[in-house]
Amino acid sequence: MILLDSETYEFILRIIVYTLIDYDVLEYPINPFELSDKLGLKTHPYSKLSEEEENILINFSKDGFSTEKSNGEWHIFYRDKNMNQFRIRYTLMHEIGHFVLAHINIGGEKEEAETNFFSRNIIAPNVLIYNTLSFNVSPQTIGEQFLLSKQASEIAYKNYLNWLYRFKKKGYKDYEIMLLNNIKIKKLVA
Ligand SMILES: [Zn+2]
Repeated sequence: MILLDSETYEFILRIIVYTLIDYDVLEYPINPFELSDKLGLKTHPYSKLSEEEENILINFSKDGFSTEKSNGEWHIFYRDKNMNQFRIRYTLMHEIGHFVLAHINIGGEKEEAETNFFSRNIIAPNVLIYNTLSFNVSPQTIGEQFLLSKQASEIAYKNYLNWLYRFKKKGYKDYEIMLLNNIKIKKLVA
């Protein structure tokens, strides 16, 4: 896994907030289908295709992929059969990340690291974890509130602890305040 520089991380966190506000996707847990619709992306489940075509796609990519047509239309194909909703959400956000970050070299190590960071942070922004779960933050509550798999919840929790350490010393960033002021959260954890 490659590490990105801190300016890139910061840039992506800022892009996330601007995207949510510009495209009016303001409810959490976030709905990746709503975001892709509003961005003008077309989504296609593998299951819409014949079984034979579906198997070809699974061999090509076990989760999903994007293609851009010559007319500029962006299409996301994602595997849905035998996949839980958490994994589908993550796959869609990963592909949306490639689009939002204007990646050309999809599959490149740097591009994959960037979009993985994008998808993690747009699904469960640390500042929303802090404000929604406050004294009840754990991998389990993060997973329940932001609809993450068990594995993704563990990773989100570790990232949150790093964020919290920085936050306690330095406080909110401007884009974090923007996010807090605009997002409505449907509470799923008591
Ligand atoms: Zn990718």
